[in-house]
Amino acid sequence: MSSITILDGGFSTQLSTHVGDKIDGHPLWTARFLASDPKAIFQTHLDFLRAGADIIETNTYQASIDGFVQYLGLDKFESLELISKAVDLAKEATKVYLAEIKDKTGIPNKNPLIAGSCGPYGASLHDGSEYTGEYASSISKEFLKAWHRPRIEVLINAGVDILALETIPCEIEAEALVELIKEYPNIKAWLSFSCKTDGMSIVDGSNFQSVALKCYKNSTPGQLIAVGVNCLAPTAVTSLIQNFNKMGEISVPLIVYPNSGEVYTVAEGWKQRGSEPPLENFIDEWLNYGVKFIGGCCRTYAHDVRKILFEVRNWEKKKSDGIPCCCGE
Ligand SMILES: [Zn+2]
Repeated sequence: MSSITILDGGFSTQLSTHVGDKIDGHPLWTARFLASDPKAIFQTHLDFLRAGADIIETNTYQASIDGFVQYLGLDKFESLELISKAVDLAKEATKVYLAEIKDKTGIPNKNPLIAGSCGPYGASLHDGSEYTGEYASSISKEFLKAWHRPRIEVLINAGVDILALETIPCEIEAEALVELIKEYPNIKAWLSFSCKTDGMSIVDGSNFQSVALKCYKNSTPGQLIAVGVNCLAPTAVTSLIQNFNKMGEISVPLIVYPNSGEVYTVAEGWKQRGSEPPLENFIDEWLNYGVKFIGGCCRTYAHDVRKILFEVRNWEKKKSDGIPCCCGE
């Protein structure tokens, strides 16, 4: 069995192959399709499972009670129901996928898991602040815990296997989440940060490695399965994660799921900014630095997950070919 877990890709990106190019720019982003086009959500999950994802994420990154109340006209109860429905759609896709592969051999992901996606508070503000962490100085830890609690609770009650605490742009929100999940000791989670391109900082300016390590150490032992980074250019990843664990001495499992390297602006949407090397070019070095969970974020499709899986298997093969024999030589 592989020691590396393959995540899915950019949910909005793969979803666009089913609903067209009308996703970005809405305050609820992909979450509004839970109400308007659940079939497309189901199909998107199935695409990622068929591509080899070991973990698929629910379509709840930008789902919040406030957002559903404001933009879909739901009440609090209906909003929570819709978040719960997101888990059901991931479960349905998993069920269909498992039936498809039942009698097949050589399938890489025979026991896929469902991660409940929890985007940061900033994502719900729809002002890009998950990429700046601007609200960090004007918000309390208790407020953030209270804001995150209902979604986390409904995701857990609906039966997710794990929580994806992702694109977290500031230290205070990471600390709030680590404290909050202690209220649910039976759930595991990963914690992934929104980082600058300077190779060392979370977007709020704090040091990625020291904050991530502090969160890992302050969490209930075993509850955080990994810390890492997501939704940043592949070229920005290595300097953030290298030396986090000394080579060959992995103590903190890392998670990495970058975007394609394209840059998003409200005015122009996603644009290529030059010749950004593809994500798969970096996989060997990230795995050598202790990455245990790897996938894609925005602008990565199901076919990119296939490429990631291919590179991971190659790396594992190279590693096993080079492993010393039992005499230690
Ligand atoms: Zn992203």
